[in-house]
Amino acid sequence: MSAHLIDGKAIAARLRERVAACVARLKAEQGIVPGLAVVLVGNDPASTVYVRNKGIQTIAAGMASFEHKLPAETTQAELLALIAQLNADPAVHGILVQLPLPLHIDADAVINAINPAKDVDGFHVTNVGLLATGQRSIVPCTPLGCLMLLREHFGNLVGRNAVVIGRSNIVGKPVVQLLLRESCTVTIAHSRTERLPTICRRADILIAAVGRAEMITGDFIKPGAVVIDVGINQIERGGQVRLVGDVERESAAEIADAMTPVPGGVGPMTIACLLANTVTACCRH
Ligand code: NDP
Repeated sequence: MSAHLIDGKAIAARLRERVAACVARLKAEQGIVPGLAVVLVGNDPASTVYVRNKGIQTIAAGMASFEHKLPAETTQAELLALIAQLNADPAVHGILVQLPLPLHIDADAVINAINPAKDVDGFHVTNVGLLATGQRSIVPCTPLGCLMLLREHFGNLVGRNAVVIGRSNIVGKPVVQLLLRESCTVTIAHSRTERLPTICRRADILIAAVGRAEMITGDFIKPGAVVIDVGINQIERGGQVRLVGDVERESAAEIADAMTPVPGGVGPMTIACLLANTVTACCRH
């Protein structure tokens, strides 16, 4: 058996089309152009690529993109002043601060300085609390992307056993909240979890957000499960640098019913969900 590959690229492309159609309607009917401001501090190569891609896709969807590239030695006070300026700017409906920030800056203080209504990453403590209490919030992009992929596959998720490996604020915890909201039975695993393969083999839905290349092999997977691989890891193989997920594709594909590839699974959904969150923030505004 070889698992069906869930095509995140195609699903993300359809979401971007819906976003673009919504943007066109906002422009035509109300003269409003949704605007996304992305703030990058320093020269981290991966972050620079992410920010560039976000800008390109924002413009492709017909929105306004405002990029703020600041030097690595920017002080926290300077960054907070920029956030205050973006909070007050009526042309900016979404604000994203690219993480990680340099170590001398308190990332929580910066995220919590963003107006929660413009916090399109969904990391502000207000949005985290709203999500956890089942209220309307802005949902973090990668977890929202995972949910959309699962809905596309299953339709209804009620009653499914889900195991989420990883408990970060960015991926693991919000994924858990979303699955609970869908009435899944959810287990959260992390680096101190004992008998991880046994726990994972109970999952109808297995979500890996660990950051360890190909750690999850076929032995972790229940026959017929759906596996969502959030991990993005660079490895060197055969003298070439390659991107792989947290899931070892070949052995997992022998056991799972469906799985997301890396690249081309969760990754494309993340930026598409960012665009969708920006339009949502604009409409609510
Ligand atoms: P973090 O490093 O913040 O969290 C990793 C989690 O994995 C932690 O909860 C950690 O447990 C757990 N963990 C680590 N080792 C093990 C282990 N041996 N067994 C079980 N659990 C373990 O990472 P993120 O959540 O930010 O990201 C996870 C992965 O997802 C990364 O590869 C990242 O690059 C990728 N990513 C992909 C995105 C996309 O768009 N596709 C977006 C964001 C992230 P503990 O809490 O105990 O330390």
